[in-house]
Amino acid sequence: MSKVFEHAQRVIPGGVNSPVRAFKAVGGEPVFMKSAKGPYLYDIDDKRYVDYVLSWGPMILGHANQDVIDAVKEKIQHGLSFGAPTEIETTLAEKICTLIPSIEKIRFTSSGTEATMSAIRLARGFTGRDKIIKFEGCYHGHSDSLLIKAGSGALTFGVPSSPGVPACLAEHTITLTYNNTEELIQVMDEIGDQIAGIIVEPVAGNMNCIPGDADFLHTMRSLCTKHNSVLIFDEVMSGFRIGLEGAQGEYGITPDITTLGKVIGGGMPVGAFGGRSDIMDFIAPVGPVYQAGTLSGNPVAMAAGLTTITKLEEPGFYDTLFAKTTALCEGLEAAAKEYGIPFTTNHKGSMWGLFFTQDEKVTRYHQVIEADIPRFNAFFHSMLEHGVYLAPASYEAGFMSITHTDDDIAYTIDAAKKSFAVLNKS
Ligand SMILES: *Cc1c(COP(=O)(O)O)cnc(C)c1O
Repeated sequence: MSKVFEHAQRVIPGGVNSPVRAFKAVGGEPVFMKSAKGPYLYDIDDKRYVDYVLSWGPMILGHANQDVIDAVKEKIQHGLSFGAPTEIETTLAEKICTLIPSIEKIRFTSSGTEATMSAIRLARGFTGRDKIIKFEGCYHGHSDSLLIKAGSGALTFGVPSSPGVPACLAEHTITLTYNNTEELIQVMDEIGDQIAGIIVEPVAGNMNCIPGDADFLHTMRSLCTKHNSVLIFDEVMSGFRIGLEGAQGEYGITPDITTLGKVIGGGMPVGAFGGRSDIMDFIAPVGPVYQAGTLSGNPVAMAAGLTTITKLEEPGFYDTLFAKTTALCEGLEAAAKEYGIPFTTNHKGSMWGLFFTQDEKVTRYHQVIEADIPRFNAFFHSMLEHGVYLAPASYEAGFMSITHTDDDIAYTIDAAKKSFAVLNKS
């Protein structure tokens, strides 16, 4: 074991501050990083990696973007935190409200978990109902109500996915099948009037990358309207990754509440939830639902987010970014075909995923679970060896940044070919 990892494990559980970083799913030891610039990560031995994790999504401009760094540097000179309102919070709030029309008012938090947790509390407080619906394979952070797995069958109430989550809380979370419209209709017809809200990743990025079916999401919207349930689009990952309006813009759907995170902090700890004014005014200090945060709306984090989003507004930004994603996915598929490897990819905007499967297309969670995971793990390690940093688990999405060049993508596809060649022998 490396010295640094051994040292870390003595004082941090598993040596990491977030579990997926530990490489448990793929085996082996995590790589400790030292610096990053553009599309590259550099480890503590100065080895370079083309990075498709991008801090799990936020670094859409590439690492250490000079304008973002400059904005942060400027801001820190005036103090790090005040615990009082600052104007930059309004500036970023206004920018997001302008870009995403469904968000009439927004509140900032310090993480995506806080944003989804608060959105759920707000939906419950607003409707006076306790039950919520989520979908298997969607991740909404690690708050108790959302760390729930489904039992089998549509109306089976949830069992906690983690010790420490009380069963009495899990009872209120119903977990359904992603992209199964019939099941959703059936459940809402039966108990829609007890449902406080439905929370969904409109483009799922935590069961690898699975875009929502348009019909599934549109039906969800109309069912929520019919039953006065709050529709929560969790766009912590898809926000500003699928376009300026997020997945909701792409699908043309207006959720009641949207949760954001990742990109809106530009690499700093930021989350947010926002939506219809009448619902948002239900939170304190205007309304009765309590929500707070010592460092929420931190001015340094706001500066990083504001600068990041401003750069996304430049004409053609997303067209360029999406073309890179398409080129990578097409290149990987062609390479796999060349080596006779059963393989497919998904991508939406700048989110993408690869699957070692015989299936032509992956649209459901069970396909992700049933894909050849040992083969992914071997591929992951080979790519790492060749200087390409993929997410260290087969159920995570990949990301693209604007700084990935044609050469970086060609380099990645070449590394994939070398890796496919080895997989064929094993
Ligand atoms: C990352 C993520 C979260 C949790 O955000 P944190 O900042 O890690 O707490 C919630 N929802 C989705 C869709 C995410 O991808």
